[in-house]
Amino acid sequence: MQVPFLDLKAQYQSLREELLAAAEEVLASSAYVAGPFVKKFEEEFAQAQRIPFCAGMSTGTDALHAAIALLGIGHGDEVIVPANTFMATPAAVSLAGARPVFVDCEEKFFNIDVGQIEAAITPKTKAIIPVHLFGQPARVEAVCEIAKKHGLHVIEDCAQSHLARRNGKYTGSFGIMGCFSFYPGKNLGACGEGGAVITSDAELHKKLHAFREHGMYKKYHHDFLGHNYRMEGIQGAFLSVKLPHLPKWTETRRANANLYRKYLANVEQIRLPEEDEGVYHAYHLFVIRADGRNELADFLRENGVATGIHYPIPCHLQKAYSFLNYSRGDFPVSEILAGEILSLPMSEQLTEEQVIYVAELIRGYYTK
Ligand SMILES: *Cc1c(COP(=O)(O)O)cnc(C)c1O
Repeated sequence: MQVPFLDLKAQYQSLREELLAAAEEVLASSAYVAGPFVKKFEEEFAQAQRIPFCAGMSTGTDALHAAIALLGIGHGDEVIVPANTFMATPAAVSLAGARPVFVDCEEKFFNIDVGQIEAAITPKTKAIIPVHLFGQPARVEAVCEIAKKHGLHVIEDCAQSHLARRNGKYTGSFGIMGCFSFYPGKNLGACGEGGAVITSDAELHKKLHAFREHGMYKKYHHDFLGHNYRMEGIQGAFLSVKLPHLPKWTETRRANANLYRKYLANVEQIRLPEEDEGVYHAYHLFVIRADGRNELADFLRENGVATGIHYPIPCHLQKAYSFLNYSRGDFPVSEILAGEILSLPMSEQLTEEQVIYVAELIRGYYTK
């Protein structure tokens, strides 16, 4: 049996007619960049995330950069980010000219260790960016409390947490802005690149729209320096086709996570991911910790199962950040996790038979 990590071709086949019709509509209207299809998606996505405003962006990285930069954060400033995240989170801070300051993650849920944030705050700190890693909401209420006490902004990285919530409240609505990615492999993916920033603040929302058009509120009147971060019309149209399916897809991901738990119960050599209390986990990824992780991954690949490692090198040890002078040992939890984590196939296309196949392979691997 072949078990792909995710199956975008199968997803396309399930939506083929609608996607082709959407493409035809955009081509016929020639609304290629921003425009009505993006506006429609922005309204729909804001509604799905239970927030007043959404600004479509070109990518998730650009969404983060726009959010950071338009708060006036730049040279000489510091922004606190988890060490255990995709490189785009700290890279967006660097793009704005500020310095990312890393904090370790907590072992149980992989998210930023809230207890270590205050020690990382300096007079230069301007914001904290919690990441809802793998679809599990970070302890963002506690992050907001610390931020309030120190007069800092909270920008949420929701690139992996579409529709996820914490005690009923959607990620992206705790901080001043929430940044999303619609990279094809995300829970909601465009057929190309895409991103968005959501907010409850009407002025910020206007400023986000201006930022993505070189700081332009009125045609050819540039009030500040922004960027070209517009979303393409065709991606907005494709995302509008996919969005109505997202609640059901998320439920399927959650059901698949439960199936993994069921069929992988009591395998001593692995640790299954845990859910924090009161969260609605979106399961962008199902990440286990495994003894002999690399050998297990090889064995699975030889048997037709694709896996991933998210992420093999914590951000503070990336070559690109050698100038920040961090060293091995600075964030031990992130470093230990990097050597043990393995992402199993996870998508709305994954079937129970496939989960059973993967689970039996893992069980068999450790008992052989
Ligand atoms: C994917 C991702 C991003 C960046 O999104 P892009 O659309 O690829 O630019 C940022 N942060 C996290 C945690 C991500 O997973």
